[in-house]
Amino acid sequence: METWKKFEQNVVSHSAAHHLMAISELLASNGYARVTDVARRLDITRGSASITLKALRERGLVVEDENKFLHLSEQGRELANLIQSKRKILITFFHEILGVPEDAAETDACKIEHLISEETGEKLLAFIKFLMSGSKKADELLKAFNNYQLECGDISSCHLCFDDCFLHDHDQDNVE
Ligand SMILES: [Zn+2]
Ligand SMILES: [Zn+2]
Repeated sequence: METWKKFEQNVVSHSAAHHLMAISELLASNGYARVTDVARRLDITRGSASITLKALRERGLVVEDENKFLHLSEQGRELANLIQSKRKILITFFHEILGVPEDAAETDACKIEHLISEETGEKLLAFIKFLMSGSKKADELLKAFNNYQLECGDISSCHLCFDDCFLHDHDQDNVE
């Protein structure tokens, strides 16, 4: 099946991923997490948080104890950690390596943090670690990239763009 169709069957939805991360962050900062705390942190209604958390409980990712305090199961904790790591890797790559402004880097990382595979996350991590290693070759590469002028706009000589050049389309969109 094509990848885009599989998005529906992703391990967790984007919303669910943020619920898991919210619990993880609340446990780290406050030591406890209740439905109300999760709702407040995500800036959503208690009812909405409750529905998503119920589904996560049914899937064994979230556990609620007798006092209504929420915990992450081992699997839930692992999943939250993975998504948080990928989020951090993506923000670092977009902002610190590519030079995308921090706000935009965070927004874009947020959109894909729960979708990219562990394999891609790992390769990206290795690439970032190499670039930030301080080795002469890495510094030279970063410097060369920072001085590189993007040449794109002529589809006949462009190997990357599809049908019409990205930069070309992009510029036209911005002109409006
Ligand atoms: Zn997100
Ligand atoms: Zn192009």
